This record gives sequence, structure tokens and C-alpha cells, in this order.
Amino acid sequence: MLRPIGSATPATLAHTANVAHVDAPAQTRLDPYAIPGSYRAPTHCPECGAVYLFGRWTWTLAPRGSATQVCPACRRIADDEPAGTLSIDGTFAEDHRAELLEFIAVMAEQQRIAFPIQRVVSVEASAHRIDVSTTDIELPQYLGEALRAAYEGRLDVRYGAADYSVRVSWHR
Ligand SMILES: [Zn+2]
Repeated sequence: MLRPIGSATPATLAHTANVAHVDAPAQTRLDPYAIPGSYRAPTHCPECGAVYLFGRWTWTLAPRGSATQVCPACRRIADDEPAGTLSIDGTFAEDHRAELLEFIAVMAEQQRIAFPIQRVVSVEASAHRIDVSTTDIELPQYLGEALRAAYEGRLDVRYGAADYSVRVSWHR
């Protein structure tokens, strides 16, 4: 199994100032790309090198005899099927676009190192907003919380009502 979904911040988000949090039944948050039993340990992803071992994806070396199977993150990237989005807008965001893009890149890389299947699919930046899509539903929340912790602003987290998805927006 993967890291238990919802084990991170969602439960505490609602109690934080300036955070709107719309919850969804936990059972709807099963990633169809990573359903339990779809990977047997150890498995090695030939695309990114991540290794599924002891119930989670890591960046360790693949043990001898590992199966080969593309990981959920690489499959979502190949299919262009992000699970989560983070959108950033507001006048502060407009005035600090380059800084925020750098911040997002650094924070996302930290998370990718710790959790191989939490990855950015795309970043689109226009004059007025930044849109980030991700391979899972934890990363947008992590990035949104990091933005709020660093720059304040207003965070909004909305889970898909019927699927494994999240839309996070940060405004300042
Ligand atoms: Zn992979």
C-alpha cells in the first residue's frame, strides 16, 4: 500500500485561520492509479527509478528480483492525468511571480525527494496567475500550506466529491 491517504494535513487544515477546507468521504480518495494490490513489492519503475518496497515508493536501489512496472506518478504524467491542482492569484502573486515560482519549485522538489509519487505534472504561469498540476492530492495541499505559512494569504482546499482529486487555491 501507499502512504495512507489523508495522513498528512487535511484534518488540521480546517482549524487553521484563513483556510477554507471542503472535505470529502475518505473512501472516494482512493487513487485509481495506485489501488492497493496493483503493485507487488519490490517493484522498480523503469521511467523514474522509484522503487516500491515495504508498502511505499522510495528512491532506494531496486533489490535483485524486483518486478518492473511504471509507477503511478509516471503513468499520470504520461497520460496527462493530474490528480491535483494548485492555482495562485491575487495582486501579491502578480507582483512576486518569479519568487513564487521559485518557491514552488523548491518546495515541490523537497516533497518529490521524500515522496517519489508526489510530483508536479505541469506549471503554467501567466501575468495574472500560476497553475500547478500534480500527480497526487497531497502535493497541492503541501504547497498551499507552505505558501500560507511563508506569505500568509488565503488558502482554499476542495476535494473532488466523487473521485481522487483536489483543487487548492491560494490567493493574496
Ligand atoms: Zn516512475
